[in-house]
Amino acid sequence: MALIISGIDVSKGIAIGKVHLLNRGAPEVFEHKLKEHEIKSEIKRFQNAVDDASNHLRSIRETIPEDAPTEIATFIDSHILMVEDSMLRKVPVEIIREQHCNAEWALKNQHDKLVSVFEQMEDDYLRTRINDVEHVINLIQQILKDQQYTAQIDIQPLKGRIVVADDLTPADTVLMQNQSIAGFVTELGGPLSHTAILARSLGIPAVVGIQDARPLLQQEELVIVDGGIGMVLAGVGHKTIEDYRRRQRKQKEARRKLRALRDVSAKTRDGQRIILQANIELAEDVSALKQSGAEGVGLYRTEFLYIDREEPADEVEQLNAYRKIIRVLKGKPLTIRTLDLGAEKEFDPNFQGPLTQNPALGLRAIRRSLKDTGLFKQQLRAILRASSSGPVRILLPMVTSHIELVQSLSVLKQASRELESEQHQFDPDIPVGAMIEVPAAALSANILAKQLDFLSIGTNDLIQYTLAIDRIDDQVNYLYDPLHPSVLKLINLTLQAGRRAEIPVAMCGEMAGDPRYTRLLLGMGLQEFSAPPSSLLEIKQIVNRSRISELKKPAMRILNTTVPDRIVSMVDALNDQPY
Ligand code: PEP
Ligand code: MG
Repeated sequence: MALIISGIDVSKGIAIGKVHLLNRGAPEVFEHKLKEHEIKSEIKRFQNAVDDASNHLRSIRETIPEDAPTEIATFIDSHILMVEDSMLRKVPVEIIREQHCNAEWALKNQHDKLVSVFEQMEDDYLRTRINDVEHVINLIQQILKDQQYTAQIDIQPLKGRIVVADDLTPADTVLMQNQSIAGFVTELGGPLSHTAILARSLGIPAVVGIQDARPLLQQEELVIVDGGIGMVLAGVGHKTIEDYRRRQRKQKEARRKLRALRDVSAKTRDGQRIILQANIELAEDVSALKQSGAEGVGLYRTEFLYIDREEPADEVEQLNAYRKIIRVLKGKPLTIRTLDLGAEKEFDPNFQGPLTQNPALGLRAIRRSLKDTGLFKQQLRAILRASSSGPVRILLPMVTSHIELVQSLSVLKQASRELESEQHQFDPDIPVGAMIEVPAAALSANILAKQLDFLSIGTNDLIQYTLAIDRIDDQVNYLYDPLHPSVLKLINLTLQAGRRAEIPVAMCGEMAGDPRYTRLLLGMGLQEFSAPPSSLLEIKQIVNRSRISELKKPAMRILNTTVPDRIVSMVDALNDQPY
């Protein structure tokens, strides 16, 4: 009988293979009371297990191929650090001593305490980090249970198999990748878990969060994992399998073609060079840049140096984060957006703007920076100092009026003067640009452009403010429309303003990374796209298959259409145009 189970889609792609069931979860643990003279040897047993866990992780770390994404090593390193941390090395020893209990019980006690601490964390990302603590504790428990513990998966031939487990650690994922597994399904985990992130970067199709995966799926049965929609199919007929094999071949072929474009430059068929840059959120994200063929970073959202942490990063920490990216970029430009705090991105729980009911219209982004110029100036100092190490551009978020530019440039001048007197190196001509994210900015883009070196259209907010729909409110999501005639007109005005002032205009909102809009934007005259690294090769493929000369007229017709309902079909026709 066919069985279709749905879970969380964490890593796209189709995998077809036989199931290999794996038990990687916590072994059952019981309490034993110890006699005084047994305590010393129990502590020794525990310490040996921790050492073995550490050695096990270190040996896996050494098997990571050199060209593997850097986050793999980072995740394994974070597990090695946890093993060495006193919360796992020392506290259980104290528990054994105080409670006269066995090592497994002491470790379980410590596990329960840590879980309750993590559960109270408000931040989603930090809360999911309990998975990592559990992975490390389970590894030590496994070793305590079986002193000859060797990773089960080291000795299992897993090539081409679909691994079905309760949970997998990043170390497991690396071992499996080395053995070329086809895909995996887990009962636990979510889209933010390290294993999910790894599966994505290793390109292993994966579905997680299927609670009863192991009771439902049988060892050796043939299953299909469709990572793109989070679906697992078992017991299906020959026809379905053949259909999936066809889709799998198509996907592989498409991926191969895209990968081949990595080092090809983005140029339309009629010779127009198009710049494709990446949006990043964390300094660690730069690892994805290489595979994406990005020509620099068009938007570095620096909020994560401030939010989701106890204290905002100081000048030196920021400087180091910027330099880390500059080193990877090797001469390609880094566009650093200054703090875009406020609305859904707040780091100070005590901070309240005067109007908190409508935070998206309140003291956010550049308004917030200009209110508290201390933080802003500190960030500008860090950016300026970083500019001595490579090409850096400053991008100001949510500028609404020309006066905000005047004020921002004046704080930049103060920061430059300070650095000069402190004899720090920096680029005195650092390019400064503004994001065009509110209708007022688009309508006066020609005025703003006169004082700036570049503009960058933030369509996420531009659409929110133009159509008056809260971008994080699910109830009005259906109104979110990049093709709304008003949005297109504002984009066009901004592009025109850039051309007139002879400064570049980029687009860094999600619209720039959506292949449905690439041809329309090219036809409107956009020449710089900044998008998530994962979408850049697809955009490049479209660019390289297009002729601007054939897109201009249809794009103008779309802009001037008197029947807005027809815009979608006109854009479809543009996309179907032969190349
Ligand atoms: C935008 O608004 O389009 C943008 C790129 O900024 P963010 O999504 O960070 O608000
Ligand atoms: Mg924005």
